[in-house]
This record gives sequence, structure tokens and C-alpha cells, in this order.
Amino acid sequence: MSQQRNSREKLNRIIEENQHLSIEYIEQLATPILDDLTSWVNRKFYNPLNGELNYEITLDERVNATATTNVLDPMHPVIKITLGMLREIYRDAFVFPLVSDIISESTTTVKTLNEQFQNLYFTFDSGVPPIHTNQQTKLFNLVKTAYDERRHEKLTDDMLGARFMMFELMVVWLYFHELGHLLQRHFLLKIIQPGDSIVSVSEIQEAVDFHSKTTDENYFLKSQAREILADLEGVDLTVSYMLKNKLFHMPGIYLLMCAQEIMFHRFFQSYPENFEIPEINHPNPVVRGEYVQGYLTNLVLDTLVKNGLISDRKDAAYPITYLSIRASSMAGLFWANRYEEFDGGELPTFMRLASKENHEPKMQYVHTMRYWIDYQLEEIKSNHLCSPNFIEYFEGLRLYKK
Ligand SMILES: [Zn+2]
Repeated sequence: MSQQRNSREKLNRIIEENQHLSIEYIEQLATPILDDLTSWVNRKFYNPLNGELNYEITLDERVNATATTNVLDPMHPVIKITLGMLREIYRDAFVFPLVSDIISESTTTVKTLNEQFQNLYFTFDSGVPPIHTNQQTKLFNLVKTAYDERRHEKLTDDMLGARFMMFELMVVWLYFHELGHLLQRHFLLKIIQPGDSIVSVSEIQEAVDFHSKTTDENYFLKSQAREILADLEGVDLTVSYMLKNKLFHMPGIYLLMCAQEIMFHRFFQSYPENFEIPEINHPNPVVRGEYVQGYLTNLVLDTLVKNGLISDRKDAAYPITYLSIRASSMAGLFWANRYEEFDGGELPTFMRLASKENHEPKMQYVHTMRYWIDYQLEEIKSNHLCSPNFIEYFEGLRLYKK
């Protein structure tokens, strides 16, 4: 399926680009972020329970991440992220600001959207949002001087800063999704083969479990619902991380939304162009995107109120809607331009599936997922490693409840 959507020529160009990317450099950029995340998670969650989380960057070309638990020693789980995945993340974060810039200059997409929002104070014409010096990431401040010596004139501080912010937020979001599987202890809900002690929840689609309809006819539906719950826990933890690292600001929120959408485009490649529920572990990424955006926009608004940055949710509802619409459309166009057969005529498949014309079948899928989320929620609540957690807030929102 994916081969038809993707352009052979573009994929060949990307394979060539990969040859020029230094795996060592990418690992060097990711390591301090992953170290920092892991020590924070251990202080907050695992050490008080006499446990310890570890992470590994694995020398693997495949694009994957895994949450691994040894059932004989469940308090010492491991998050594994492949170098293949980090390279994809790096390459997309690296290119996204440049492509955004081209889209904003050479098409009417941004101009039209801004007009729909009356060109109000929160809109921006440039490809990426302006990033104030004190909003930049630590990572950017570390690498900036090295870039200053040999920087292309078109590469502004905003674009360069956006690259590193996006890289960081994509890594953080992926890591916290895996942590979501671990904190919710999804391994307890997986069917283990006799003699197995290592239980992995993996993001790669080929890793189809043996437990199919013969052991549980709803196995895939339950697994798909748990992926959404890991996504939502991931969103929740990412917002905490952003608050802690002073990244909870407009450019950070916008780039997080773009990063999430791009990840969903990446996973979408093996999905059909409709909303039939496939017999695989992960739900259609358009549906995941629906949940993540719905949850994130609510959480951002409530966090702004909670931190005294606005007095009422409605004060920021309009700007946040703008960011969310803009992120979806820029990520969609980025993906189509980079990877797919796309001439700018029709909407790319992912965007078409996410659009109004498919609202009904999409919502049917979304509601089915909500049913299977609720079906497992009580058990997950009692299994969860920490309390309070995101579940209370999620239930309060009644998101996609019929
Ligand atoms: Zn997952």
C-alpha cells in the first residue's frame, strides 16, 4: 500500500541523504535528552518503588521503539529506541523548518489560513514561529556557535532553533509514549506464551503477536485502545516536561503538535485509505491523531489557566485552534512533499482521511476505540504505577464519549 503512495524517486533521494547523516552525531544529540528523561522518570516514578528504568539506543536500521518488561523483574523495565528511528526523527526535524519556509513563501496555504483567523496577533506568516532567545532549548544554545561558523544565509535563528526544539520534542514524545505502556503496565494485559518472561510492546507493525482471534477475538481492538492510552499518557508527561524545561510556550506547543502529526504520518504508511479497523496492534494513525489533538488542546488550555497565564480557557481557545489546524496542515504538506507522489492538486491521503468528508467513518472508529478504552480502563487504573495520573483528567474530559 505504502509503495503506491510514496514516490520512488523521493525515497531514493532520502536513502542518499541518509548516507550523509552521521549516526554518531545523532546519538550524541539524543543521549543527553534521554539521560535527562530517564533520571527524571526514575526520581519521580521508579526509585520510590525500588525500581529503575533504563533505556537503550539499539543499533538497528528498522524504525522502532519498544517498552520491554521482564515479568520476573518488572520494576526494572527498558525502553529501547532504534538508531533507525532516531535517524528518521532527526532528518524530519532537520528538514521541516526548511520545507515550512518554502510552503509559506511559495503557496497561499499560510496566507489563507491567517486570513481565516483575521491575521490576529497569534498568527505568523513565516514557516516556523518566531522563537525568542529565552525560549530556545538547551540543545540549541549548545550547538548554535558551531552552526554560526558555516551557516547558510537562509537558515535563521528561528529555523535553526525550531529544528532542535522539534528533534527534542519528538524524542520526548516517543519516549513518553513508551513510558505510558510501562506505567500502565500493559504487559499484564498481554497474553504471554508459556515459558516467556520478556514482554515487549513494540511500535513496529510487522511484530504481529501470535495471540490472535484464537485466544481473544478482541485482541487487536484492545491492543489498539491501549496504544491510544499510551499516547495520552505520553502527551500528559510531555506537557509536564515542557513546563519543567521552560518549553511550554507558543513555539514549543506548535512544534510539539507538528512533531506528533509527523510521527503519525510516518506510521500511516502501512494503513489502508479507509477507516476499516485493521487486524494489527496499532490503530489508524488518523484516529490516534484525533485523540492526541483533542486531549492536548484541552490540556494546554487547562494548564494555561492552572499556571495563571490566562484567566479563562476561552481566552486562548482561538489561538490554540489556530496552532492545531496549522500544525496538521503543515505536517501533512511536509509529508506529501517529502515522501509521496504529490503535485499539489488533490489533498494527500492522510489529510483527506482526516478531513470533514470522512468525518462519519472516522468518528465511528474513534467511538469504537473509546469503547475499548473504557472496557480496559478500570483494570489499567488499578495496575497503574502512580497515582494521581492522567486518567482522572481524561475521564473528566469525557472526550469522544457518546
Ligand atoms: Zn505503543
